Amino acid sequence: TALWEDIMNKLFAVLLATTVMTGAVAAQDTYIVGVSWNNFQEERWKTDEAAIRAVLDEAGASYISADAQSSASKQLTDIESLIAQGADALIILAQDSDAIGPAVASAVAEGIPVVGYDRLIENPDAFYLTFDNKEVGRMQAQGVFDVAPEGNYVFIKGNSADPNADFLFAGQMEVLQSAIDSGAIANVGEAYTDNWNPEVAQANMEQFLTANNNEVDAVVASNDGTAGGAIAALAAQGLAGSVPVSGQDGDHAALNRIALGTQTVSVWKDARELGKRAAEIALELAGGAELDGVTGATKFSDGPNGVEMNAVLLPPVPITQDNLDVVIDAGWVSKDVVCQGV
Ligand code: BGC
Repeated sequence: TALWEDIMNKLFAVLLATTVMTGAVAAQDTYIVGVSWNNFQEERWKTDEAAIRAVLDEAGASYISADAQSSASKQLTDIESLIAQGADALIILAQDSDAIGPAVASAVAEGIPVVGYDRLIENPDAFYLTFDNKEVGRMQAQGVFDVAPEGNYVFIKGNSADPNADFLFAGQMEVLQSAIDSGAIANVGEAYTDNWNPEVAQANMEQFLTANNNEVDAVVASNDGTAGGAIAALAAQGLAGSVPVSGQDGDHAALNRIALGTQTVSVWKDARELGKRAAEIALELAGGAELDGVTGATKFSDGPNGVEMNAVLLPPVPITQDNLDVVIDAGWVSKDVVCQGV
């Protein structure tokens, strides 16, 4: 029995050590990822969130989040609070690219990696994950230009504090500048849209229609929400469907408008992929990867201050009536939703 006791004791010791070790490993692997949304109201971010959560769940990491409700100052306190809750990495969808600066600086100073999500945060110590926004702008302009190679153009731009607004516009201009220079098309109205708010877009569109006696031949709207606002203004003048309109995001309502013929193009960015990549990158960085060691990292220095960033840029896809099957086949939206009322 002495031998037996000895064996049991040894076995117990081994079991204890294994438990302690597994516990230690688990503690190290159980990362907390904090996500700061700027405005969770917008349709697309719910898809992004689900994709982020799926990766974190799978990895046994936890998800904490805050919604700044379009307030740059609330977003600063949100980030402090995510840090206080123990975030090991942050994913930030910035409301205002400049205002966010101090919060990002203090996170990286504390050794907490930051992923600038979808919108550039021009700090070389942060990572930048987005779709190629200039390319989105080119696709928007091209989609409309294919239908309206001449005439009066209106530009419904994004929120001015969002760097994407200017990236998109720059891409749009790359496509349209020569037609503007030749006089084939004229820019008869251009406005930023506060907080990308569809109602603001609608009001701006109403003003442009009035100022031009309804002689508007094309609308380059920078996302699907603002496209919806612009189309409501066109509809009120009996013009919905006869004036090409662009958008972006593959919002379900927009894809339905494309099927119905009131919107010409949406640029689809598979938010499921962006969310997935964000969570993966956050975990890589939390685990100690260098910014330039992140899987697939390239350099990006096309921001307003030319800062060289480590980045991943995913490719967008233009969707028109001709290829609605792409989003349906990808399981992004059902055919019933796309074709409702057609
Ligand atoms: C995103 C768009 C989105 C818009 C409004 C932009 O920064 O790139 O996908 O529609 O913000 O939320």
